[in-house]
Amino acid sequence: MKLSDFDIEFIKFKNEKDTFTFKLNDTFFQLKENSLYDRCDIDAKIDCLKNDNTLVLDYTLIGTVFSSCERCLSEIKLLLDSTRNEVLKLTSNEDLLQEENYLSVNNQVYSTYDSLYEEICLSMPTRLICENSLTNKQCEIDHSETADEDVVDERWSELKKLIK
Ligand SMILES: [Zn+2]
Repeated sequence: MKLSDFDIEFIKFKNEKDTFTFKLNDTFFQLKENSLYDRCDIDAKIDCLKNDNTLVLDYTLIGTVFSSCERCLSEIKLLLDSTRNEVLKLTSNEDLLQEENYLSVNNQVYSTYDSLYEEICLSMPTRLICENSLTNKQCEIDHSETADEDVVDERWSELKKLIK
């Protein structure tokens, strides 16, 4: 799996419609610098439609993302089931090409990688904890509160030393 695998060449479209499917695994995240996640097993489908000057991309992502619980560090499985729609306009105007959602008429290649990556990240629960995972269990150990208190206590004792 390499970055260019996610390029869609709209210039090659003979029919107006085409569908692309991708099996995303751990290599997918390795293509991203500082990726938020590193393991997954996802089926991605992109339905593309080309009209005169408009390209419509409908993404469907279903699968699992693996991470570790923020609280107890257990490995957790997160469900991904999401859709996204993107509309691109073809143009030869240089100014418009600097903006998002425009693609050059002369170079009708669009990389779907960032959209796929972004959609995965946005679909993840806000807190990566056992309760929000597929196993839906409570955290096995929860040291977080006591650990926080210890840190505060230490700082206070340092301050008290200074005052003396
Ligand atoms: Zn946990």
